[in-house]
Amino acid sequence: MSSSTSGTFAVRHVEKRRISTCRFADRVAEMSVDRYRQLVPSEYRQAQQACLATFVAHEADSDRLWVIALGVGTKFLTEAVLESEQRDNSVYGTRVRDCHAEALARRALLRYLALEIETLVAPSDTEPSNAELQPPVRLLENCRALGTTNPLFRIRHGITLHMYTSSAPCGNAVLKKFATFQREVFRDLPPEQWPSEPHPPMPGHAIPFGQFALLVKHDATAAIGRPSLTIDPSTSASVLVESGTAPLDGKLETNRSASSGKGWPAQTTTDWCPPGTSTVWKQAGSIHTCSDKLLRWNLLGLQGSLMSSYLSAPVFATTLTVGRKLSNVCCRRAVCCRAVTKTSQRKPSNSPTFPKIHHPAILGTAVYLDETGIVDMASSRQAEGQDVRFHSTRCWVWCASGMTAVECLDGSTGFLWPEDTTDCQQRNKDGQRTTSLVCTLVLTELLVQLRGRTSSDALGTTKAVPQSLPDLLALKQRVSPRHEQTKQNLLSRHPLLRQWKQRGSRCTT
Ligand SMILES: [Zn+2]
Ligand SMILES: [Zn+2]
Repeated sequence: MSSSTSGTFAVRHVEKRRISTCRFADRVAEMSVDRYRQLVPSEYRQAQQACLATFVAHEADSDRLWVIALGVGTKFLTEAVLESEQRDNSVYGTRVRDCHAEALARRALLRYLALEIETLVAPSDTEPSNAELQPPVRLLENCRALGTTNPLFRIRHGITLHMYTSSAPCGNAVLKKFATFQREVFRDLPPEQWPSEPHPPMPGHAIPFGQFALLVKHDATAAIGRPSLTIDPSTSASVLVESGTAPLDGKLETNRSASSGKGWPAQTTTDWCPPGTSTVWKQAGSIHTCSDKLLRWNLLGLQGSLMSSYLSAPVFATTLTVGRKLSNVCCRRAVCCRAVTKTSQRKPSNSPTFPKIHHPAILGTAVYLDETGIVDMASSRQAEGQDVRFHSTRCWVWCASGMTAVECLDGSTGFLWPEDTTDCQQRNKDGQRTTSLVCTLVLTELLVQLRGRTSSDALGTTKAVPQSLPDLLALKQRVSPRHEQTKQNLLSRHPLLRQWKQRGSRCTT
């Protein structure tokens, strides 16, 4: 391994050697990296350290794999931009707030699913707008139940979804101090198979030290002018009592330190947080880390609220393949196992209804993403914060349906990169489109139009696309009351998820 210095950053020229969990993981990674190289121009691949995430579909019968959604990025909006957006009363959902690769890939997946539903519900004499762009194999099939008024879809039998991320999701998955690192062990499985055994129980031996913590993406600029973190015990106590009342693993029946007015160690300092992250309570960011988002998706599904009304069951990724920085035990904890509650293991009769946790198989891969070099965080004096680690705010997003080319976003504004003209579909009628095809507003438009075309009930006939957050929440409530109820249960009663940071009535996503 050679190293050199580029400005204040040391750059290692090869990724650390790694061991794959199985051949299937390498196939998923290889396919994802290939697609990334096809889509993103080489000058932008070489200039920076990339974080890539994808969703890949697998068809068991044919053993065929194909990439359906892709995101590349490491940026997110600063608190200042988020606050100005709220203050200016601008149309809700035009900016993509979180341009981390995983968040972009998931948005691309939403677009992909919505367009596939559009194709499936199109009357047979109408050519769907994106027919020529459809991948050869469909993910969804109609499973309309008798007596229902709206069409209902499910993932086709034999099709599974798989997520790939070139680096361990930021946040809890890279919080390694509470687990002993174990190298991946290669398993000689056939190339179409992945390990399928249940996750072993997760010991919650250091919860007060932050072992299970939810974390936000640290906006270094947000801390300027604010007092440094020393949690007021009187404030933290209320949080702590809440945390202690519903133990995650049965060991924390009460939180004694709360009654004595002292905070948990993890709440008195942020030293233990992985670089680029902060606690939910410190006023230094409000966008959740990718680890926390994956955890939420493994509870509620990837499809989101509005789309859930079209699906017979939530959509989950069966496996999660990770490139750099994978510690399997930490990743398991981060994306699913830390949400296991004592009550969820008991009879459901006297416990709140939390959804069943989906535990994806966590896989390592030896396939490398970076062609040139990676920034060595350890030798950077500016390791913390969002914009210092990487050299560009360009982010990329693509899905295998209805997008002829990859979109380039500016991760610091959440809008399309201004001079990007590579995709005519990024331009609206007057040629001035600035919003991404995966921003909340455009995705909502898509689903509202779809509902207008498919629904025979009064709920669905609305053609108005919500322009504000309260309107959007009201629409979700009308269209997907069950999903919203489940989400509310989690965000108000689940011992871990109820710490989810919310901006006013807004759930930060
Ligand atoms: Zn992230
Ligand atoms: Zn798990």
